[in-house]
Parts: sequence; C-alpha cells; structure tokens
Amino acid sequence: MSKVLIIGAGGVGNVVAKKCAMLPEVFSEIMLASRTKSKCDAIAQEVGGDRIKTAQVDADNVPELVALINEFKPKMVINVALPYQDLTIMDACLETGVHYLDTANYEPKDEAKFEYSWQWAYQERFKEKGLMALLGCGFDPGVTGVYTAYAAKHHFDELHYLDIVDCNAGDHGKAFATNFNPEINIREITQNGRYWENGQWVETKPLEIHKPINYPNIGDRESYLLYHEELESLTKNFPTLKRARFWMTFGQEYITHLRVLQNVGMTRIDPVMYEGKEIIPLQFLKAVLPEPSSLGENYVGETSIGCQIKGLKDGKERTYYVYNNCSHAAAYEEVQGQGVAYTTGVPAMIGAKMMLEGKWMKPGVFNVEELDPDPFMADLNEYGLPWHEQVDVELPHEYN
Ligand code: NDP
Repeated sequence: MSKVLIIGAGGVGNVVAKKCAMLPEVFSEIMLASRTKSKCDAIAQEVGGDRIKTAQVDADNVPELVALINEFKPKMVINVALPYQDLTIMDACLETGVHYLDTANYEPKDEAKFEYSWQWAYQERFKEKGLMALLGCGFDPGVTGVYTAYAAKHHFDELHYLDIVDCNAGDHGKAFATNFNPEINIREITQNGRYWENGQWVETKPLEIHKPINYPNIGDRESYLLYHEELESLTKNFPTLKRARFWMTFGQEYITHLRVLQNVGMTRIDPVMYEGKEIIPLQFLKAVLPEPSSLGENYVGETSIGCQIKGLKDGKERTYYVYNNCSHAAAYEEVQGQGVAYTTGVPAMIGAKMMLEGKWMKPGVFNVEELDPDPFMADLNEYGLPWHEQVDVELPHEYN
C-alpha cells in the first residue's frame, strides 16, 4: 500500500494514472500533477470518485516540486512529463527522500542529445540516500530491455546480435501527427542514426538506412534505422553484443510531411525572431499539430514491438524473437488512449509496482535490464501487454 505521485498528464500520463487506479492494493493513493491542472482533472474525472487527487506543478522548478512532494508525501514519483524535466524531478526526489521512475532519458532543451550520462551521474547520490531511480521504463526503452534481459537469462549464454524492431501499423486518419509528444518525437527522428558494431558506434544520416521488415500479424513494413537510447545501456550491460540496432516503421506520407517541414525550417530547435519575440519553430509546430492524446478515438490497427536476437546457447547458434502486438482500439476501449501511449504507460505502471512490491527495489540508479526480468514479464501478460516468443526460428531479419 503506497502513495504515488505521477507527473505529466499527456497521453502516457493518462494511461499510467488509469492503470495505477485499477490496482488499489499497490497504489493506495494517487496524485496526478502537471503543468496544466485541467488535464489532470479531466483524467481524474474519467476515473471517478476521489481515486485520483490532482495538482498544478512546474516540474522545471525544484522548490515547487519539493513543496508538492512534502505536502503529498508519496513513496515514489512516476515521471511521465518530458525528458527535459528528468533532472529537476530527480533532484526533488533526492531532497525529499522518495524513489523515482521515468520512461525517457534526459535531454537538454537546446540540443537533441540522447545519452544517459547526466542521469547515471546520480548513482552515488541515490545510493547514499537509500533511494532507487529506475530509468527508461516505457516500451522502448523499457520492455525492450526487459525482453533482452529475459532472453539472456533463459535462452542464451551469449548475446551477439540484437535488433529492436518497432512497427506502428495503425491509422489515426490524420494527414500528419506524432504518436507521442511531437517535439520529442521529431527531435529523435531528425537526428543522425547510429548503431553499435564491433565495439563502436557507426553513425548514419537521418533515416539513411531502411528496408522492409516482416512483423507478425502485420506483414512487411519499411523500417528505418534510428538511434534509440536503450542501445547505450544495453551495449554496456550486455558487452558480448557484437551489433545492436533499432528499427522503426514510418509511412511514406509521414516521411514526406517531415521532409517538407524540415526543408522549410519548422523542425529547428534554435530560436528565431518573430514579431519581436523569440520562438522555437519546433515548439510552434507542436502547438498546431494534433495532441497525441487526442488520436485514440478512431485509431485502427496495431503496434508490434519486439527484440530479435542471435547468439550462443550450449555452444550452438540460437535465434530468438520476443514481441508484443497491441491494438489501438482495445487500448482506447480500456483507457481512452492510443496504442503508443498504452505500450508506454503500462510498463511504467508495472515498473512502479515492481519497486513498491520490493521485487525490484534497491538503492541506486538502474536501467530495467539490470533487474530480474521474470516478475515484470509475468505482469506484462497480466496487465495488457502479452508477449510471444519464437525460439530457433528463421528470423524475418537477416544477420550477416
Ligand atoms: P505529452 O506531450 O502528451 O505529455 C507531456 C505532459 O507533461 C503534458 O501533460 C505536459 O503539460 C507535461 N509537462 C511538460 N512540461 C512540464 C513541466 N515543466 N511541468 C509539469 N508538467 C509538464 O507527452 P507523452 O505523454 O506522449 O510522453 C510523455 C513521456 O513519455 C515523454 O517523456 C516521452 O518521451 C515518453 N515516451 C516514452 C516512450 C517509451 O516507450 N519509452 C514512448 C512514448 C513516449 P501540458 O499539458 O501543459 O503541455
């Protein structure tokens, strides 16, 4: 029985709050706080009763966070605001003595730079205070790390090749929209690609490498090699990996819109003067794009995200594929959110549950693959993201 403070009331916050509300035996009291309180109130109202308390908070402001935490006294904070707020929320957790969980690594606002160094630097401070910080506990990063740890524990002696394959075969009926925060999403996609090979990073131009990959129940979809943050922690935690890559599908319409927006300067993150005021084009673009949380209602189709792994077991080559398919419509029916928010919010709830139940609780800063995957894998089946595995099959991905 523990109090939890959820920060961020966007698409993911909606799912986390509702999934936590369904488990009163774990999350006895819930507060949802965000920059815009009315969004928290709308979610709380949909849940009904007084199950979820709400509050306004500016999570860039440590004293404000500290005051809120001291007033509500949660056991942990689930941070599903934006990556920009990770460090201020971690600082506030340290100051008030509460545990921390997030779903995306810290990024400075003025540079699209994805790395764990800033958050890993909190290791000693969390350890000394007897507090835990769990990083990247959404789907990718998150479940992909748990899948990899599960494969390493049960199916391999050595992991050699890892391909994380992420397909959204859904259709929301809009010409152009992003499935999670547009600013964060577009920063991620427009940067250079990168993958790990033979002990070093190989850099590519944005979306330079692509090919069709076959996804279960979906078929072939053009998939683009991107840099994704879990590659950094997975190659560190599984040093036998010779190569690790991340692939994501995009439709041709999406790529065309993105190219035009880039060509006209709308994805820039440096300030430009407009009517005597500095604005950031990408932030303005976010303001005119559909809110990811609004996409759910008529969303059809499904997502498919998994890990394809090749390595050694008992001296023999082994291949392994573990994945989940998630229906947008089913997610909407359950929590009035779309599949991408659902596949992120459910693992965040499960990670918090693992910590509060003591299954994953230990002092320090951790990525998910450093913890025992078994109870988390069991809960994925229980709470809406069932997984499937194929051992020693021909992978739909060539390894060479
Ligand atoms: P949204 O933009 O829908 O929601 C973000 C929420 O955070 C909004 O409610 C916003 O408030 C709030 N917020 C922003 N800045 C502040 C601030 N300074 N203080 C308080 N609240 C603030 O994003 P998503 O829900 O789509 O994504 C949430 C997080 O999940 C992101 O970090 C994203 O990167 C991550 N994510 C992780 C994935 C994974 O698989 N690991 C996949 C998808 C997303 P307001 O409403 O006022 O704008």
